[in-house]
This record gives sequence, C-alpha cells and structure tokens, in this order.
Amino acid sequence: MKLHTLLCLGCLLVALAPPARADVTIRLDVKAVLNPATGARQSGVNDASFAICFAEMNAMLQSFQRGYRLQWNGNAVQNVGGLNQFNSGPSQYYSVDFVNATNGGVLKDQFEANAIANPATYGWDANAVNIYIVQFGGANWNVCSFPDEQIILVNGVRGYTNSSTVLHEIGHYFNLSHTFNGRQNLNANDSTCTNGCSCAQLIGGGSDGVADTILDHDCWDSQNDIAQGNYGLNYAGLNGTQAANVDNMWWNLMSYHNRQHVTDRFTPDQMDRWTDTANSDRTTVRTGRTRFVATTGNDLNAGSSTSRYRTLTRGIAFVNDPDDIVLLRSGSYNEPQTITKGLTLRATRGNATIGKP
Ligand SMILES: [Zn+2]
Repeated sequence: MKLHTLLCLGCLLVALAPPARADVTIRLDVKAVLNPATGARQSGVNDASFAICFAEMNAMLQSFQRGYRLQWNGNAVQNVGGLNQFNSGPSQYYSVDFVNATNGGVLKDQFEANAIANPATYGWDANAVNIYIVQFGGANWNVCSFPDEQIILVNGVRGYTNSSTVLHEIGHYFNLSHTFNGRQNLNANDSTCTNGCSCAQLIGGGSDGVADTILDHDCWDSQNDIAQGNYGLNYAGLNGTQAANVDNMWWNLMSYHNRQHVTDRFTPDQMDRWTDTANSDRTTVRTGRTRFVATTGNDLNAGSSTSRYRTLTRGIAFVNDPDDIVLLRSGSYNEPQTITKGLTLRATRGNATIGKP
C-alpha cells in the first residue's frame, strides 16, 4: 500500500504543503575509462546502451514500493582518461582484472583513493554513486564492488547489459552482502574442500545480516537445491511460506542466481538495510530519507529500521525534506494529523490505519 499526502483518510487532515516528489532520489555518475592505446571507449559503450540498464534498474526499484529512484547525471556517460595514460590517470586502470589479478584488490582501492583525491581528473562526483566502465583485462567478469567501499567497476557493455548485475553492485554500495555470505564447501568427512561446486557438501550461508533471507549458496543452481539446503525437501513439497522464502533467494539481486536467470528483487529486510545505510552512511548521494514507525516502536528511538518510532506524529516531526518518507508498519495509528509539509507516507508491510482506534 502506498499513501501520498494528497490523500485525506479519516481524520488525517492534509493542509497546503510544498509539492513532494514522492521519491528519494539517488544520483548516479557514469564514466567510460578510455583505452590508453587508442584513446577510445570500448565498443558498444554509449549513452543509449546504458540508458536501457538505467531504465530497467529504476523499474525494479519502483517495484519495491519504497520510494527510491535513480537519477543519472546528465543522462550521459562521461569520458575519463585518455591516450598514452598507461601509468597515470584513470586509463592506467583500463585493463586491470580487479577480480583475478593477484593485486586486483589493491589496485581497486588505489583507483578509488586516486579518484577521490583527484576528482577533476577522474570525474569523481562526491554527491553521486560513481560507476566506471573498464575492461577487466578482457576477463568475463561483470562488475566489482563490495560493502564499505564506494567505487563501482563495470566490465564493458556486457557488464551492464544485464541491469540486475549493476543493481547488485549498487546493493553492495548500500551495504548489502551476498545472500550466500558464510557458505561452506566441505568434503564428505566435513573437512574443508577446495574443489568448488564439485565438493561433496555445499552448506548454505546465512551471514548477510538480513533476517528475512534464508540460507543460500553460489553453487546451488535450482529452487530444489535451495529448498533441500534449507528444508530438506524438494521445492514442490514446500508450504507457501517456505516456497516464498526460496523464491526470494532464487530471484534475489544479491545472490549469484543471475547465472541461471535474471534476478529482480530485494526482500523487505534487505530494503531496510539499504535504507539505514542511505540514511546514515551514504548521505551525500541521495535526497530525502526514510523514517520508520511501528506500533511496537518507541518515540525515544532513532527512527531507523531497527529502532522505530512509535507514533506517526514523531515520524512527521522529524521530516525536513519534501522527499522524506514516513514508512509505517501495519497497525492502527490513532493520531489526528495536520500535515503542513511535503512528505510521503508509505506502508509496505500490510495496512496502516490512521485516525481510527
Ligand atoms: Zn557481489
């Protein structure tokens, strides 16, 4: 359910308020690193091809009904680096395989540090999520980013042709971990196995810090595998709740099931984690913020997803940007309201009733 302040429900009275845009906007800044040998972009990297990825990401975000919308700076891919920059500037990173190279992680950190220190040369925008399109040494990796870091590296046009992989990286930017985090590969005798997906035991991981995601493993490649790993049953034998949990992994943007099919969802708790990070740690790249309210909350709390306010009144009191959202958990909020500022009310986990006992 989604409410906007233009609605008047029960004794909720909405006065003349500045127009809200009804979305928290996240700015993206997209750069093509130029080939130092030719001074040119990789083939296929252009505004039109990225525009498709951008539109698909926004469609997915919109489907979560949490009011997040991406805004692409200039609606254009910017060029950075240039001819003969083999050892300096952005183009020194044009062909690094940030995943496979032994010093890939070091170079990734160096790239980010250099970009932040030299924003004009690197096109770094401190008020946006920075995406660099590079070549990854010709490897078949897609994109590379991890929580707690900022730079997102995309492997050419194939790195963003599947928009789910880019939204996965933006998920990392907002502190989401892989759904299979903590998974184990073991031999039959429970010793550690180094044989990848051929290991005798594939134990699902659940260390993603999100409550409503079940165990997952990057070697599981069917709904049956996920069902067996969690419930010891085939998918067809699951009850409705169990099947929904499996589906949330099978189509999860933070899984690796993008190898089997296009993934398209975050769970509600993943969106809460994203939101807390957007509110507290990634403040420069977004417009308004979300304030959490639940009938089980407390008005002395901080208003985060894990420390929710008790009253709608409290949530509204802290709104200071017309893009702000007050996100209500289901329940009754017996609070007559006169709203005199722009904001959006949302209820995404069941009905919230305002102004009735
Ligand atoms: Zn990842």
